[in-house]
Amino acid sequence: MKEEFVHELDHPLAKAILTVLRDKRTGQIEFRKSLVRLGRIIGLEIVKFLDVEKAKVETPLNVVAEGITIPDMNNTVIISVLRAAMPLVEGLIKIFPNARQGVISARRVEEKGMRPDYSFEIEVTYHKIPEIKETDIVIIADPMFATGSTIIATLEHVLKRGTPKKIFVATVISTNIAIERLRKFLLSRGLLDRAKIITVAIDPMLNEHGYIVPGLGDAGDRAFGT
Ligand code: URA
Repeated sequence: MKEEFVHELDHPLAKAILTVLRDKRTGQIEFRKSLVRLGRIIGLEIVKFLDVEKAKVETPLNVVAEGITIPDMNNTVIISVLRAAMPLVEGLIKIFPNARQGVISARRVEEKGMRPDYSFEIEVTYHKIPEIKETDIVIIADPMFATGSTIIATLEHVLKRGTPKKIFVATVISTNIAIERLRKFLLSRGLLDRAKIITVAIDPMLNEHGYIVPGLGDAGDRAFGT
């Protein structure tokens, strides 16, 4: 069976945490902690799509037990899109403790407004991304996958460092506009079949400022109290 490009989490705990994030009464600390918790859950979901190998181990009872290993857990690179991804990555790292990490500061140039095709000019002011090997699993973390402009700008930087075996976008809320833009980009690079979006929800629309509706507001501002 062909794997889906978008995987929406179907877990009541993820949906309940998202409800806390959406609630405008949720304060900064609870908001940040909730993003960390979702990062763990999203990380666990990503593991479902990694290859496993059969293994045998001998237990203290000197009996052989059948098990598995997940070699890709040691080939993971997590990219944080500053700054809203930071709490999400704190959770992801709990699931992928051996991950190498990259960071990118990619800002939507909101002063210039959203273009008629719902994209933004992206200003990248800093990036430090490790070398990517063909055996690597890259996870790009950004809680709000609104227009796709930031993730595509990030991916362009990642791909300059190498082409990984798999690409995951770890996000909390997506829109179909962002999903379709990323699908086209990956298709043009011949990478669509190795990529997957892991999202907690898909919201129906963007407002005129490029914010997701109903959404949860500005994830960075709410997580950092600015
Ligand atoms: N970034 C956010 O923080 N929120 C949105 O709704 C869109 C982009």
